[in-house]
Amino acid sequence: MEKYAEQIHRCFRCGWCKFTSDYLDLNCPSYKRFRFDTFSTSGRLWLTYAWLRGELEWSEHLAEILYSCTTCKNCVEQCPMGFADDIVDWIVGARSDMVEKGKIPPRVAHFFEAIHGYGNPLKLLRSDRGAWANGTKRYEPGDEYLFYVGCLGSYDENAQKMAMSLAELLNEAGVSFGILGSEENCCGNEVYMLGEIGLFQVLAETNSQKFKELSVKKIVTLSPHAYNTMKNTYPGFGANFEVYHYTQLLYDLIKKKKVKLSQNKAKVTYQDPCFLGRYNKIYDEPRRILQSIPGIELVEMERNREDSFCCGGGSGNFIMDLLAGGEDSPSRVRVRDAYETGADTLAVACPSCMTMFVDAIKAENLDAKLTVRDISQIVKESLASR
Ligand code: SF4
Ligand code: SF4
Repeated sequence: MEKYAEQIHRCFRCGWCKFTSDYLDLNCPSYKRFRFDTFSTSGRLWLTYAWLRGELEWSEHLAEILYSCTTCKNCVEQCPMGFADDIVDWIVGARSDMVEKGKIPPRVAHFFEAIHGYGNPLKLLRSDRGAWANGTKRYEPGDEYLFYVGCLGSYDENAQKMAMSLAELLNEAGVSFGILGSEENCCGNEVYMLGEIGLFQVLAETNSQKFKELSVKKIVTLSPHAYNTMKNTYPGFGANFEVYHYTQLLYDLIKKKKVKLSQNKAKVTYQDPCFLGRYNKIYDEPRRILQSIPGIELVEMERNREDSFCCGGGSGNFIMDLLAGGEDSPSRVRVRDAYETGADTLAVACPSCMTMFVDAIKAENLDAKLTVRDISQIVKESLASR
C-alpha cells in the first residue's frame, strides 16, 4: 500500500469519476445509494488505504462501506489516471485482509458459509441443483459444450426460466451440450470479489479438475459472472478451456441461421451487465441478437455500454443486498432509466440483473408497463418454428 499512497491521496482530492459527463447524476452505485463521500470511489479508497496501513479500527460500518462496492468498474472506466486498473484490486485486497482477520459483516459471513456448506449462496440442496432441467441431459465426454448454469440459474425461479430458454434454443439449433446438474458447483466469481481468495482457489481448482476429468473443451455460461471468472481468473489456477457467454454463441447460431427468427413486436432497452461489458468488452453481440429479430425496436438508455449503471447486484449483492432500500437503490434507479426510454421490455443477459430488476420493477409500481426479459427468453419467443 505504501507505494500507492500518493495515488490514493490524489484520488481522494479528485472525484472526477463521481459524476456522469453532464454532472446530472452519480456514477458509483453505492455513492448514489448512500450519498456520503465515504461510499464514493475516492472516499472508499481513502478508507481502504487507512485500513491496510493499520490507521483505522475495524467496525462493522467500515466493513460495510468496503463491501458496498459492487465491483462494477464504472470508476475504472471513467478514471483518467494511470492507476485506474488497480482500483478494484485495492478494494478486493482490503476485503481479503478483513477476511484473513475474521472481520467481515454478518451478511458477507453468511454468504461464505452458504458456499462452504451448500455450494451456492442460497443455502439450497446440492441435489436440487439440476431440478430445473426437465430433460436437459448430463454432459458427456464428446459433447461440444458444457452448459455451466450457475447458482441463480439453478435455483432462482426467474433465472431458471433463462436456463430453460437457453437449453431449448441450443437444442433447437442442434448444438451438442450437457449440464452437470447436482455435480455443478459455485463458480466463485463473487467469492473472489468479496476477498475470500482461499475459498475461491478451492472452487476454481475443484471445478477445473471436474471439467478436465470430463474432457470438457468448451464452456458456455448463462451468467456473465461465471464467464468472467472462468475466462479470466481460472487460467491462473491451471484451467485451459474455451469459455463463451451465451450471447456470443447465440449470435453465432443466428448468423449461421441455425436459430431462425420471426416477427416479435416490442420496444426493448438493454442493460449491459458489468461483468460482460466493462470486464469483457462484450457490448455488441447482445444488441445484434435483439436487432436480428424482426419487429424489435432497440432503444438505448442514456447511460449505456461502458457508461452503463450497475444493477446493484455485483459482488454478491444479488443475495446480500447491502445497497437495498429506498428509491436510490441502484436497481430502482436503473428501472427508472429503462422506463424513461419508452421501452416496454428491459432486456438483460445476466441472472443477477434479472433478480434485481424483477424486485425493482415491483417496488417502482411499473409491473403493468415494463417487463424484464432475458435475451434468451426474447429469442425463444421469436423462434420461427413456434
Ligand atoms: S478513481 Fe480516478 S477518477 Fe475517481 S476519484 Fe479516484 S482518481 Fe479521480
Ligand atoms: S467499482 Fe463501482 S461500486 Fe465500486 S467504487 Fe467503483 S463505481 Fe463504485
